[in-house]
Amino acid sequence: MLKEIYVCATCHTAYPSTPDIWRCPCGGLLKIEWEKPTFSKKEIQNELPGMWRYVKALPFHPQCSVSEEITMGEGYTPLVPLSQEDPHTFVKVDYMMPTLSFKDRGAAVLIAKAKEWGVKKVIADSSGNAGTSIAAYAKRAQIECDIFLGKGTSPKKIAQISAHGANIRMVDGTREDVAKKAKMAVQQEGSFYASHVFNPYFHEGTKTYAYEIWEQLNNIPDTLIIPVGNGTLLLGVYQGFCELLAQGLITDFPKIVAVQAENCAPLAQAFHEQRLEIEATQNKGTIAEGIAIAAPERAKQILQVIKQTNGYIVTANEQEIKEAHTALAAKGFYVEPTTAANYAAYLKHQKTTTQERIVLPLCGAGLKAV
Ligand SMILES: *Cc1c(COP(=O)(O)O)cnc(C)c1O
Ligand SMILES: [Zn+2]
Repeated sequence: MLKEIYVCATCHTAYPSTPDIWRCPCGGLLKIEWEKPTFSKKEIQNELPGMWRYVKALPFHPQCSVSEEITMGEGYTPLVPLSQEDPHTFVKVDYMMPTLSFKDRGAAVLIAKAKEWGVKKVIADSSGNAGTSIAAYAKRAQIECDIFLGKGTSPKKIAQISAHGANIRMVDGTREDVAKKAKMAVQQEGSFYASHVFNPYFHEGTKTYAYEIWEQLNNIPDTLIIPVGNGTLLLGVYQGFCELLAQGLITDFPKIVAVQAENCAPLAQAFHEQRLEIEATQNKGTIAEGIAIAAPERAKQILQVIKQTNGYIVTANEQEIKEAHTALAAKGFYVEPTTAANYAAYLKHQKTTTQERIVLPLCGAGLKAV
């Protein structure tokens, strides 16, 4: 029977998975381990038109109905060719989510787990979209929610978060200061830290991006373009493809081409200098606010994954991001500037063959920005 545990990635200590722990006392990040049920095409629950069609691959009891209580139909987003000129490039339209960003994948799983645990209050910090998503699902699950935000957060994202009744706790400082304040509140109040950065249940949700591509393409692509700030999509996707590989459902792994904004690119810098540790950098300011993370907590893990898949990191400057935004809109896709960076990176990516199959995520909707 499924009973998942937490294991520290650094010192390998095991803990019961409970709401009151989000990091090992040694400072290490937590992984979830459980005896995974075998997953085959037959296990896909076609009647569920969202990411819960892969519920057999998610850490919930088969009898657990909490996902049915909180789902808003997230996931199973369209995968469509970019254009007629680019028939081998597909865009995964993840802005067609209940709160208009891919963060709903992670938030739905994380809040479902919080609900199953009987959590009464969650705290999260965000540059915008994760907060929006956590706020929406927490409200739906009738869990109280505080979201810590930086002063530069898009007014539309703030409006969305407050519409869901979350308490907005504005912090004057960097993205790192915002996270620090949230952690202090978690400690003082003993609330559940619904962090998309630290909590590995979030990755259990984002991994469905990989399952969907596998099902929709009936194969794997050659290349995945993936934006990285804190790496929640990248690490979830990697986990998803690892699971598919372990089950023999795929035989190869796609190459991951990660995307950063030139003005905030600690991972790109480390990668080009062949380091696995980042150096402290400053966000010099970018319209790609969703990936502007100067000190990603999971930097080493992210860099290892990119290397392992024979991938690399592309940076896009502000001008390239703006032009990509306009160019995507001209193809019918109205995305937020952070997502335009993905397309800018795609345009800079050197295809190995004209047949290279590429999947590009459209992570956030244009109406969210500003
Ligand atoms: C959160 C977000 C990202 C980056 O995701 P990370 O998990 O921080 O790597 C990219 N695009 C959009 C629209 C986002 O909301
Ligand atoms: Zn540890």
